[in-house]
Amino acid sequence: MKTLAKLFFVIIIFPNIIIAQTSKKKYEYNIDLLHMSDNEVSVSFTPPRNNLKQGKFIIPKLVPGFYQAMDFGQYISNFTATDKNGKKIAAERLDKNSWLVEDLKHVSKISYQVAGGWNSLKQDTQGAKSPGSMFKKDSVSVINYNSLVGYFEEIKDVPYQINVTKNKDFYASSALDYKKKNENTDIVWAKDYQELVDSPVLYCVPDTTWIKIGHTEVLVSFYDKKERHYSQKIARELETILKNQQAYLGGTLPVNKYAFLIYYESSNERGYMGDGLEHSKSTICLYSAGNMNFLPDALSRVASHEFFHIITPLNIHSEEIQHYDFLNPVMSKHLWLYEGMTEYATIHMPIKQKMISLDDFEKSLEEKIKGMKEFDNKLSFTDLSKNAMERQDQYMNFYQKGALLGLCLDIRLRELSDGKIGTQNLMQMLMKKYGKGKYFNDDELFDEIAKMTYPEIRTFFKDFIEGTQPVPLKESLTKAGFNYDESTGKVSLLPNPDSKQLALRKAWLGQ
Ligand SMILES: [Zn+2]
Repeated sequence: MKTLAKLFFVIIIFPNIIIAQTSKKKYEYNIDLLHMSDNEVSVSFTPPRNNLKQGKFIIPKLVPGFYQAMDFGQYISNFTATDKNGKKIAAERLDKNSWLVEDLKHVSKISYQVAGGWNSLKQDTQGAKSPGSMFKKDSVSVINYNSLVGYFEEIKDVPYQINVTKNKDFYASSALDYKKKNENTDIVWAKDYQELVDSPVLYCVPDTTWIKIGHTEVLVSFYDKKERHYSQKIARELETILKNQQAYLGGTLPVNKYAFLIYYESSNERGYMGDGLEHSKSTICLYSAGNMNFLPDALSRVASHEFFHIITPLNIHSEEIQHYDFLNPVMSKHLWLYEGMTEYATIHMPIKQKMISLDDFEKSLEEKIKGMKEFDNKLSFTDLSKNAMERQDQYMNFYQKGALLGLCLDIRLRELSDGKIGTQNLMQMLMKKYGKGKYFNDDELFDEIAKMTYPEIRTFFKDFIEGTQPVPLKESLTKAGFNYDESTGKVSLLPNPDSKQLALRKAWLGQ
């Protein structure tokens, strides 16, 4: 009994000590979404305890997933630091996204105003008016914390506590767990800045549906001014896609909770416009259109691509992404992997899971081939990746040529392994080696993959991804019993494939 009692004591007390210690060192933020003036949000915070003479406060220039400067700091005004008696402490704006705060150890509060972002989606999708920014209307708030919250360069890797004051009827849809403190206040914790920024939230009167995919709880949250019961319809569509993705990924998904946050607004424009941004455990989608009929289909396509990002870069990524520099980000060489392989999985999964016919698959390849022709295909993909910020004109080719390179890599792997290994297996192997919390060295990835698979794969990378040789599409497709007419861009089945071609096609596409 004595031992039991002692054990009990230890188990109960020990975690409390840990909480008490860590809670001293944290950023505690207050964000007021309820009382806005001039369309600006009031934000204040207490910095973590420190002994610093001064500190450099940073609001991101850029966030992961974007490749052009967004300068979220430009929306911040009235930056003020005060001590515990409310006396002002000197703070100076250094540039668009950073401030120098003197005598940081005595600062007890920093406050500022954040301009409310955009009013209408169609107005502008450039800069901070995007799925990476923050905005608020009377009945909804879309929050990306990179717009509202910052950090001191000298005090990184500490937890965040955020207190949000909001309309009492609003619900927080997010991959993070929001706790209700009182009618008008929610509290949320994040283990560090990266996790906070990686977890957007949609605040509105809830229209939410939960679905379960394997062991993963998936939240589908929808906002439209008028339509308040739409999440169920979308969730039904997404469920089919997600279950097939789960099977395609070998049966288990590397997340326990995932959230789709969907904002919709009606417009008088013809067609629709939309934008999405993927995160480790959520995707945010913004749409504007004349009517909602297109939504289930459009969302399925977006969801399919974005959800596959749970594999890469969210699980498999380089140090540049693991230790992301929000002020001066360094680009990785491997956008062929992050975007190219993700987009390839998006077009390969439906045929592999028998959701579409061979005919439809050929059409999706033709679309990619046509898309690729809009770009300069003589550029090295690793160079282009490093310079993605400067080469915005070529960036979209990672979704076109990038996906086709994924296809050629898949076929090459199947060829070398007698059909046993393809890119699906490769991604699983990479996830085992570089999954959660780990990262690869940008310069070593190609050698590592070659070691894990075949030396010939190193040559593939050298020729087609580092190098500038054209995508070996005709050669690859022929090996799998397809004819690719380079002059017309048409893909069709070879009339008389031999047994080798048929076997490779079967291993690659399951048919
Ligand atoms: Zn993507």
